[in-house]
Amino acid sequence: MIRDEDIIRIREPRLRLWERCYLPQVLRGLWTALRHVLSRKLTVTYPERRRKTYLPRHRGLHRLNKDPLGRVKCVACFLCPTICPARCIHVVGAPAPWPDREKYPVRFDIDELRCIYCGMCEEVCPVDAIELTPIFEMVGLSRAEMIFDKEKLLAIYEATRDIKPMKDPKIVGYTVDNPCSKPARSRGGPAPLRATGFGMPGAAPLTPPPGPGRDAP
Ligand code: SF4
Ligand code: SF4
Repeated sequence: MIRDEDIIRIREPRLRLWERCYLPQVLRGLWTALRHVLSRKLTVTYPERRRKTYLPRHRGLHRLNKDPLGRVKCVACFLCPTICPARCIHVVGAPAPWPDREKYPVRFDIDELRCIYCGMCEEVCPVDAIELTPIFEMVGLSRAEMIFDKEKLLAIYEATRDIKPMKDPKIVGYTVDNPCSKPARSRGGPAPLRATGFGMPGAAPLTPPPGPGRDAP
């Protein structure tokens, strides 16, 4: 029960005549709008114009790394699907056709729409197989297109193999050579990384690398 002394009674302010015509409020609103029109803009007309720098440690689209022989690095240990808080990684393992490991993933799917980009999967991976690239531009025309399978994730590795994603906390030995951190421009300069092609029908097919990974990448 609310006690009387706890009740705060607010008296309605009495407006004077010139205040009741709301002209001062209107003028104050116009002054505020004018100030914002004349002040420095914080927004850009994306995507025609882009900011000069992007955070190199931005956690974006995943990639599945390959080893020097062109095979998928993942050993199907199931640590990443186990730790993933969004439950968006699905791995199907099978006995590996190579003598240096027990298993490899025959299927590896990530639902990029469910992912919360926390980075726990890349932190937990014992062989640095899964990583989050700084790519934040990803599109798809359907939900199914945003479920990235092993082939798409390997294709992203091929497209971004020169980048070493920056992990947080920093891991010794990692360098940040991220094209996204170079000065960007509106038109005519180097194009930023995008995942558009990976999620769209008609994307360039993945070229299998030479070597033992050809049949079972
Ligand atoms: S970034 Fe986080 S939510 Fe996304 S797949 Fe990895 S562990 Fe799951
Ligand atoms: S990506 Fe890494 S953590 Fe995930 S199943 Fe493969 S080896 Fe294990």
